[in-house]
Amino acid sequence: MLTFSRGVHPETNKALTADKRIEKMPPPKDLYIPLTQHIGKECVPVVAEGDYVRMGQLIARCEEDGVYIHSSVSGTVKGIEQLPTLVAPKSSHIHIENDFEDNIERLSPLGEDASRESALQRLKEAGIVGMGGAAFPTHKKLNPPRGEKIDTFILNGAECEPYITCDHRLMAERAEEIRRGARLFARILGVERIIVGIENNKPDAIEAFKGFSDIEVKVLRAKYPMGAEKQLIYACTGRKVPLGGLPKDVGCIVDNVHTVYSAYLAVTQGLPCIERLVTVSGGAVENPGNYIIRIGTTYLHISEHCGLKEQPVKVLGGGPMMGTAAFDLHVAVAKATSSVLFLTEKEINTEKASPCINCGRCARVCPMYLMPMYIDACTIAGDYKGAKKYGARNCIECGCCAYVCPAKRPLVQSIRLAKRIVRERNI
Ligand code: SF4
Ligand code: SF4
Repeated sequence: MLTFSRGVHPETNKALTADKRIEKMPPPKDLYIPLTQHIGKECVPVVAEGDYVRMGQLIARCEEDGVYIHSSVSGTVKGIEQLPTLVAPKSSHIHIENDFEDNIERLSPLGEDASRESALQRLKEAGIVGMGGAAFPTHKKLNPPRGEKIDTFILNGAECEPYITCDHRLMAERAEEIRRGARLFARILGVERIIVGIENNKPDAIEAFKGFSDIEVKVLRAKYPMGAEKQLIYACTGRKVPLGGLPKDVGCIVDNVHTVYSAYLAVTQGLPCIERLVTVSGGAVENPGNYIIRIGTTYLHISEHCGLKEQPVKVLGGGPMMGTAAFDLHVAVAKATSSVLFLTEKEINTEKASPCINCGRCARVCPMYLMPMYIDACTIAGDYKGAKKYGARNCIECGCCAYVCPAKRPLVQSIRLAKRIVRERNI
């Protein structure tokens, strides 16, 4: 069975939603569309308070190399408001009051044989970003510098995070669209070889791709973090991305299956990125499932629509290994929101951190072969040069180290802090 070294096997908790077919969640009356939804600068609004907007209409653009943002409903712009996101207590959002008409405006459809340049421009104008969590603009990823020899496009269908099943359902129910999108990406990249990597705990998704002669299906051993790019590339091709390197350094480009699906709709149907499939799960949810949710829908609306059996102790955007806690239910779904989890006390760690006992478990599971305990010790001592020496910048923030730590050390937060300071101070 194809795999990579190290990593962990957390309880998957996917059974709550793995068999829940895709369904649409009705949009709320008020949507708050974040202006920061991809890696790069905040987008600049092109609409003002009082404007009428159609569903799919451009409402903000990034002047540099970023992507565009569109209204996910038709209605009236109520203003630009400062609201929390998962990473900032205040960030600009466009507030739109829904008229429930879904009066839609699309871009003009391009054929599947669209030229490379027009397809890349379309991905930018339709606001396509990495929907597996990275939110990197897709038109940039598919346009590596000249001279890079890319020979393989890998569809990331691993979905190794506990609880999350949206990519699983998308692969099982929308395989043909994903296949066509993958062929489009391969054509843009000028490569022949397309691989889809799927963990062996998604048999119906594997089955859905098995019949395609133009895509190699790699059945991967379910292990966390199989969906991390470097680990996925190794498991699928045996190629090792060098430390500090990128997938393109070993001739690969990797994209998540949802990104490819949304890109396909943008190119062939002119549909901008205004909604996405989100897994809503956790022990506190009455009706967990996989819902198509409009961008800008608040977690509060999601909790009201799905119902809560009990008050959640923690609400997460993303999975329990790499996700971020939401301190306010006014956080809105963005393009990279793969899941919203409403977790009970039984499902979270409430133990307090204690000093490191030097057991070495964190180092034994780190898929990047780092020594997390040393980086943590350097961070505590304010020795950021030391943290850099121990490879903090190579940490992929997967959380395996913190997951196994008997002392419950907040290792990822510590390493993240070291990375930020090394970057900001140019150490
Ligand atoms: S040090 Fe980083 S890469 Fe290694 S296990 Fe911890 S979070 Fe993952
Ligand atoms: S797992 Fe925790 S206690 Fe053990 S060495 Fe790592 S940081 Fe220390």
